[in-house]
Amino acid sequence: MLTIGCHLSAGKGFLNMAKEAVSIGANTFQFFTRNPRGSQAKPIDLKDIELFKSYASEHHLKPILAHAPYTLNPAADKPETREFARIVLTDDLNRMEHLPGNMYNFHPGSHVGQGITDGINRIAELLNEVLTPNQTTTVLLEAMSGKGTEIGARFEELKEIIDQTHLSDKIGVCLDTCHIFAGGYDIVHNLDNTLNQFDKIIGLNKLKAIHLNDSLMPFNSRKDRHEKIGKGFIGLNSFAKIINHPALKDKPFYLETPQENLSGYAGEITLLKKLYQSEPNSDCGIV
Ligand code: FE
Ligand code: FE
Ligand code: ZN
Repeated sequence: MLTIGCHLSAGKGFLNMAKEAVSIGANTFQFFTRNPRGSQAKPIDLKDIELFKSYASEHHLKPILAHAPYTLNPAADKPETREFARIVLTDDLNRMEHLPGNMYNFHPGSHVGQGITDGINRIAELLNEVLTPNQTTTVLLEAMSGKGTEIGARFEELKEIIDQTHLSDKIGVCLDTCHIFAGGYDIVHNLDNTLNQFDKIIGLNKLKAIHLNDSLMPFNSRKDRHEKIGKGFIGLNSFAKIINHPALKDKPFYLETPQENLSGYAGEITLLKKLYQSEPNSDCGIV
């Protein structure tokens, strides 16, 4: 079965997100742990958590994916910026334990001129401070497009962060199709090769989630601009191959495409379900 969801607004709580997910045919979802710009998180609503848990098990929802605010920069040169990242990561991971066994994704960060090595060292240093042996949450490093001084556009960089992290069994990777395509991995013409490289460098067992986004910008542009599925440079035929690839078909997929409302996501989920387990290269009408 295809595990698919989309990014939902967390404003009305977990139960509401779960109901929205089910209403659009999803069996998981992603949400921001707090305002994406990184303000104070709302207090935990234990009643909402309990209602969510029973609704989720009743409707067979898969593990959900939390997303850190994207202003977080654990690789920053300024100590106060890293301190902010430490406080947010610590608080978010504590809160995640109210919902055991889920995943938490963050952008590794930007080295802002210090160089990749120093940036990587700082990210790993922070992870070594905030990860705990008893946590049940898997923390995911998101693969990036490499805009500016972003770290994590090369699989080698993600591998280096994982290697430097003591509790590396708590770490996984989230591949964003838009990011890696814009970052120079040609998943349109060389999906097998990209996944082989990932397996050789990091290991496919570390691949825990996929952000499914088309790209408004061309291959290797190093620009992070998401587009609706099938409307960008990646194209529908490639998404059919991605969701059916033996190395990917059982992983969870999350849409982060630009949509005005939930019905946009509902349409994409319906489309992807139709493409799932079809033969991407056969005469099924996909060109
Ligand atoms: Fe992201
Ligand atoms: Fe993403
Ligand atoms: Zn992005």
